[in-house]
Amino acid sequence: TAARLRERADEVASAILTSVAEPFKTGRVVAHAGASIGIVLMPEDGHTTGQLRENADLALYRAKQMGKGKACFFNAEMDAAAQDRRKLETELREAIERDGIELAYQPVVAAKPGQITSAEALARWTHPDRGPIRPDIFISLAEECGLIDRLGEQLLRRACRDAQEWPDHVRVAVNLSPLQFLSGSLIETVRRAIDDSGIRADRVQLEVTEGLVIRDVERTFEQLEALRALGIQVLIDDFGVGYSSLSYFQRFPFDKVKIDKSCVDDIVTSRAAKAIVQAVVGLGEALDMGVVAEGVETEEQMRILVASGCTHLQGYLFSKPVSVHTLRKMLMAKRNLGAKVSKAA
Ligand code: C2E
Ligand code: CA
Ligand code: CA
Repeated sequence: TAARLRERADEVASAILTSVAEPFKTGRVVAHAGASIGIVLMPEDGHTTGQLRENADLALYRAKQMGKGKACFFNAEMDAAAQDRRKLETELREAIERDGIELAYQPVVAAKPGQITSAEALARWTHPDRGPIRPDIFISLAEECGLIDRLGEQLLRRACRDAQEWPDHVRVAVNLSPLQFLSGSLIETVRRAIDDSGIRADRVQLEVTEGLVIRDVERTFEQLEALRALGIQVLIDDFGVGYSSLSYFQRFPFDKVKIDKSCVDDIVTSRAAKAIVQAVVGLGEALDMGVVAEGVETEEQMRILVASGCTHLQGYLFSKPVSVHTLRKMLMAKRNLGAKVSKAA
């Protein structure tokens, strides 16, 4: 019966896991091995070898997620989740092909005198059935299925074209995925985007995260230097979370540091968060780097950040990310989003 079959499979899997986990002696050392197991049953989980192998793979994937040395049976939800992902991947591919990923722009204001000095381009995808998909979701999907270079280039080109219509002193900031540094063609892509749009290179900022430094440090820094040589500004994003290392600053002079929202969130209540911000500001002053605080939501946060010496602020307190049209209106109206900042400063 099916129940009996399941039980048998479970027993066999446990036996395999136990026996593999047994340490064994090699010539010089005692070695440990481990295994994860995905299980499919025939006929309920598939009729063809292809189908069974694919489903076993999904079960194996789940087993690995559960931790080391586990066995996991396939079930229909795994298949549904995998199909869902494949579907989303196809739809994302199509959206990229017809240039359907949009950009919203979030202003950044100078602490003094409170004017908009730049706007950050943030990717937006409105799915025909599901509505807006969060960028962290579709950006990582694009990274996983090899679409990020194409998408990144598309967004960069659009951002440069858009910014070309803004007042000359307003810069545009574009986020880069660490993977875009692996393609070998990033510099050329950036150079072409700037040339084709006609924008002055020093009006373009690229936001990179520390994630990029982890793989091939030397090649990454070489590319950052080449980008800098084009005349653009390089910002380090999400500083203060993860493995942010001070040694990056020794290796490469970033134009600005963006302090992550998580630090800003805690600044009112946490002495540590405040001390981190002050330390980054000190670093910025010593190395001629601007310091941007992102995700500023309250006046109290703003007051502390300005008093601590942050040079630029960004967050819902000033403006949410808005459409390119709305941004253009804000820039034309010379709206002083930072009126409150100037008062605090
Ligand atoms: P990020 O670069 O750290 O961008 C800041 C995020 O915080 C944005 O989320 C922004 O909308 C949000 N934010 C700004 N101010 C506030 C605030 O006051 N309160 C709150 N609660 N949130 C605020 P978003 O647009 O959802 O983007 C999320 C992440 O997705 C970005 O984080 C970035 O890592 C990635 N991303 C977005 N667009 C792109 C892109 O074009 N390329 C790449 N590679 N990554 C992108
Ligand atoms: Ca960013
Ligand atoms: Ca962030």
